[in-house]
Amino acid sequence: MSSVRGRALITGGAGFIGSHLSEALLAQGWQVTIIDNLSTGRYENIQHLSSEPHFKAVIDTITHEVVLDRLAGECDVIFHLAAAVGVELIVRDPVRVIETNVLGTHAVLQAAARYRKKVLLASTSEVYGKSNKVPFGEDDDRVLGPTTKARWSYSDSKAVDEFLGLAYHRQTGLPVVVFRLFNTIGPRQTGQYGMVVPRFVRQALSGGPITVYGDGSQSRCFCNVQDTVRALLQLVETPEAVGRVFNVGTVEEVTVLELAQRVWTGVESCAPTVKMPEPAGRMVFIPYDQAYEPGFEDMQRRVPDISRIKRLTGWEPRIPLQQTLEQVILDMLSRSATA
Ligand code: UDP
Repeated sequence: MSSVRGRALITGGAGFIGSHLSEALLAQGWQVTIIDNLSTGRYENIQHLSSEPHFKAVIDTITHEVVLDRLAGECDVIFHLAAAVGVELIVRDPVRVIETNVLGTHAVLQAAARYRKKVLLASTSEVYGKSNKVPFGEDDDRVLGPTTKARWSYSDSKAVDEFLGLAYHRQTGLPVVVFRLFNTIGPRQTGQYGMVVPRFVRQALSGGPITVYGDGSQSRCFCNVQDTVRALLQLVETPEAVGRVFNVGTVEEVTVLELAQRVWTGVESCAPTVKMPEPAGRMVFIPYDQAYEPGFEDMQRRVPDISRIKRLTGWEPRIPLQQTLEQVILDMLSRSATA
C-alpha cells in the first residue's frame, strides 16, 4: 500500500515554475514524475530532488508518444507546464513556439483522455493580447495584432491549447482546469528568454546599466512563484474548478521604470559588495524596435482580476514584490558563487 497523497506528472517539470511545483507537491506528500526535454528547462533546477524517493525525472519530449502514454497511465493528475515561453524566444523562433505549444498540448490531452486523467493546463495572460482593459477577467474579449507580427503567435498558440482543453472537457468529460499565469518571478528563473526581472537583477549585479525598453512607463504585476504554486495546489484539490479558466497572478502593479529602481534598492541592501554606479549609469533606455523587432507592440498594463480563484479556493498572493526581488538577488548571488 502506498501512502502517497496522489501521483502527479509535471510536463516541463525542470523549468522554473515546474521545479517549484515539484518541491511543493513533494512537501505535501505527492509522488512526482517530471518530463522535460531540457530545451528551456535545466537539470540544475531539479538536481536537488533527484535523491527524493518519491521523485522521478524523465528527460524526453512530450511528443514522444510511447513515453507520454506510459507516464499518463501511471499518474493521477497531469500538470501541463511544458511550453515555449518568453517574448524574445517568440520573436526569434516562432516556428518552435507554435509547434511546441500546439503539438505538445495536443499530445498531452490525447494521452490524458486515453486514461481519463485530470489535466491542469498552463496558459498565459498573453491570451488577452493588447486589450487595454484593467483588470483582465477570464471571460473578457481578446484583442490581438496581425499574424505578420510574431508576438501574437504565442497568444494564439496558447489560446488553441485552451480551446482544445476546454473542448476535451465539454465533449468527452475529461477533467481539465485552465490557469492563466500572469508575470511570475522567483529564484531559478532565467533571463535568457527575455524575462525582465532576472535580466534586471543580473545587469545590476554586474554593475549596470539596466536595460529599460521603451520609456519604462509600461507596468506589470509580478507574482512570487511560491504564491503561484500554492494556487495550483489549491486548484487541483477543488473539484468545482474543472472545466473552468482561472487567472493566477498578483495585483501589486509596478512600472518597468520603478521595477528598475527597486532592483537597485534590493541590490544595495542584499549585495553590498556591488559597486553602485552613478545615477546616470544605472539605466539605459532602449527603443522597442531595437530590443525586439521593428513594429513590436508591447502591452502598457496587465493586471489580473483574481476574484474567481479567490472566491472558489480562498487563494490570494501573500509575498510582496520587494521581498521577491530580494529572493531573486540572493539566489543569483549564490549561483554565481558556486558557478
Ligand atoms: N523589459 C525591459 N527590459 C528588458 C526586458 C524586458 O524593459 O531587458 C520590459 C518588456 O518590454 C515588458 C516588461 O519588461 O514591458 C516585461 O517583460 P517580460 O518579457 O518579462 O514579460 P511580458 O512582456 O510577457 O510581460
